[in-house]
Amino acid sequence: MKIAVVGGGIGGLATALAMTQAGFKVTVHERSAQLVDQGAGITLAPNATRVLYHLGLGPALEETAVTPPQTEYRHYRTSAVIMRMITRDFRALYGAPYLRLHRWDLQHAMITRLAQVAPGALRLGSHIDQLESRGDHVALRFADGRMETADMVVAADGIRSAIREALFNPAPPVFAGFVAWRGLVDTADLPQHLHESAVAFGQGRHINRYLVRRGELLNFIAVAHRDNWEAEGWMIPAPLDEFLAEFASFDEGTRTIISRPVLGQVFKWGLFGRPWLEQWWSGRVVLLGDAAHPMLPFLGQGAANALEDAMILTRCLTTESTPERSFALYQQTRGPRVRDATEQAARRGDRYLGEPTADSLKGNEPGAEYAYDAVAGPLGG
Ligand SMILES: Cc1cc2nc3c(=O)[nH]c(=O)nc-3n(C[C@H](O)[C@H](O)[C@H](O)COP(=O)(O)OP(=O)(O)OC[C@H]3O[C@@H](n4cnc5c(N)ncnc54)[C@H](O)[C@@H]3O)c2cc1C
Repeated sequence: MKIAVVGGGIGGLATALAMTQAGFKVTVHERSAQLVDQGAGITLAPNATRVLYHLGLGPALEETAVTPPQTEYRHYRTSAVIMRMITRDFRALYGAPYLRLHRWDLQHAMITRLAQVAPGALRLGSHIDQLESRGDHVALRFADGRMETADMVVAADGIRSAIREALFNPAPPVFAGFVAWRGLVDTADLPQHLHESAVAFGQGRHINRYLVRRGELLNFIAVAHRDNWEAEGWMIPAPLDEFLAEFASFDEGTRTIISRPVLGQVFKWGLFGRPWLEQWWSGRVVLLGDAAHPMLPFLGQGAANALEDAMILTRCLTTESTPERSFALYQQTRGPRVRDATEQAARRGDRYLGEPTADSLKGNEPGAEYAYDAVAGPLGG
């Protein structure tokens, strides 16, 4: 079976790795001519690392990953500790670790692994312009006018998925009422006591910071409530002064960190959502990751769910007799879990808008989501 994946993000690359491992022939079409370092961190909970280790990425991730001993939640102004979350031994509890990485280290490990197991499978500068599902195959039209066919297509083209809008629901992404800034700080530029994992919150704002890349860099994401947002993209440079003014009421340690981003660079972007989609497949085209179910970043589970999707979809293809039957089983397996995570992520965002007290953090402890086993857990509802 010839499978085309649209999108070379975390979801698309994981799909290609999982399907290659299962013996399918896969091509990944990524519109960018080059995959670039977007300068950000990512948290990978055990439910995400379980998939990545199964795909053979464990050793590569361990070269740079950081597992924080604890994360403190603090009052934004006084820095008083409101809650301390000790990182438990997740390898012992769930058979998979909790890792924090530079996003590029993850992406690079995935690309390198794909080049080893399926040389030439990733095609850069390959922009899909239109898809048409025609019975037992899909016709793909590229932006440069070329045409190709595949037996099925996995659309992992992200939150702004044009495939979702063309084939499933034309409703555009909706602004979720939050603006985010991100930056990386060289830890050599910070006093030792700031080399840590912490979240400071209050007044409708919060800043989450943690170490990545062997502790050489500290990643921060700062979020503030906003009524509207117009700019597009997630690489919009933000003036440092404007950003620092937004968080001027935060404690001194936090302000020290955010005033020292590498090259003075901070990027900002608006957080968006989409209405829930009941069915993620149509004919021989199936949605995966953010294209199917974008979620707010407050749970740290968006990429994790894309990884789970990739694993479950692959397993469904190996157990069912047709792509359509596989898609139905994939939908049945993934729908309730993803919906729950999407709703939890939205609720957690609302909590940060509350007072910086322990009450606002109730339910923040990791729960059942970490135990989910996309590699060997049951398929179906
Ligand atoms: C601030 C922030 C922090 C986050 N932190 C975490 C975290 O800590 N943990 C976590 O699990 N998740 C996190 N997430 C969520 C996570 O980043 C996303 O859920 C995940 O990256 C989605 O992957 P994807 O492959 O579905 O989409 P994307 O990563 O968006 O990839 C889509 C790809 O498709 C390509 N593409 C689009 N259209 C076409 C086309 N027509 N033809 C060819 N290629 C195309 C794009 O160029 C892109 O490379 C965070 C998100 C944000 C915004």
